[in-house]
Amino acid sequence: MIPIQSKLPGIATTIFTVMSKLAAAHKAINLSQGFPDFDCDPELVNRVTAAMKNGANQYAPMAGTVELREVITRKTENLYGAIYHPESEITITAGGSQAIFTALAAVINAGDEVIIFEPAYDSYAPTIKLLGGLVKSYELIPPNYDIDWELVKKLFSARTKMIILNSPQNPTGRMLTESDITALTKLVKGTDVLILSDEVYEHIVYDGQKHLSMASYPELKERSFVVASFGKLLHTTGWKLGYCMAPDYLMKEFRKVHQFNVFSVNTPMQLGIANYISDSSKYDDLSSFFQQKRDAFRGMLLETKFKLLPCNGSYFQCVTYADIADTNDKEMAIKLVEDFGVASIPVSAFYIRNTDYKVLRFCFAKKESTLNEAVNRLMKL
Ligand code: PMP
Ligand code: GLN
Repeated sequence: MIPIQSKLPGIATTIFTVMSKLAAAHKAINLSQGFPDFDCDPELVNRVTAAMKNGANQYAPMAGTVELREVITRKTENLYGAIYHPESEITITAGGSQAIFTALAAVINAGDEVIIFEPAYDSYAPTIKLLGGLVKSYELIPPNYDIDWELVKKLFSARTKMIILNSPQNPTGRMLTESDITALTKLVKGTDVLILSDEVYEHIVYDGQKHLSMASYPELKERSFVVASFGKLLHTTGWKLGYCMAPDYLMKEFRKVHQFNVFSVNTPMQLGIANYISDSSKYDDLSSFFQQKRDAFRGMLLETKFKLLPCNGSYFQCVTYADIADTNDKEMAIKLVEDFGVASIPVSAFYIRNTDYKVLRFCFAKKESTLNEAVNRLMKL
């Protein structure tokens, strides 16, 4: 074995892989990794298939097909009143994940500080470290996970390069409010701090709330990379397609990295998706579709000993078991798989520090029968 110095010492396999593997090994119901257990619309598959049959099987342009970028421009203008030029301000990526990685790689230099809000999606901190950046973490606390912007301000320094936001947030379902936006705008005004806004759950918001995108606020838009995912929008997490939008001066740097990372991504899927989502009725009802699932799942969970945390967006429901057990959440998640046949995600995996809030995350992007059976099992706890 050749001795190499790990670039990510202390980083193990992601919790999503660990829990999905464990679920499979125990034939448990998998409410851990976030993906639907129902299929996407067959019409979408037909449109992708048609693109393949029409011979669209070679490299897409580096930034993505013009068709898809133009549809995204229209979608973003309709939803957020913001214009991103398809030619210079939108790039199609291999999922939200690659968009996040590429945006960070494009702008983070050694020693730069990046503020994240934990519990945070698990790719942020390792990517920042890989690039030589320093993670400055703001720890959100259950049950409400609210942000005190005066405390966020204290994390700012002359080396702050970027702040990463994720609304609706995975795993807490928390959404940024207008008052968060006002505080954020005040905080970054007059600074060179950039924003990476992970908005992959933009279409999964509940109770008539409106998703507040960085795209909607000119003062924030001018310093933001906005990330989206077709996996979430179309129930196609396995297709790994997403996109990044940013003002041209940022997108120029993004593409310098993108072109040598993947160069371009899946052509027939881009064309099929462009064709499919040109009709916004294909995704207009996504929130009500998932709200039904959220409400049903929450209703069922009331019959268990878990306490429900709020879920304002995303397809994740967090619960606490603090009243019924003293084990940490990793042990609890393993126990639920091994003894009860239900897989979840221990939320401590989304914090850098060792935390013990006793919170588990369940994904409810599942058929009603799956959720029913899972809760039947959890009722035995
Ligand atoms: N950000 C968040 C908050 C996520 O939950 C996910 C997982 N789907 C991603 C980014 C990555 O998205 P994708 O699957 O499109 O790479
Ligand atoms: N975003 C999904 C989740 O939070 C899974 C992504 C992944 O497996 N990397 O569960």
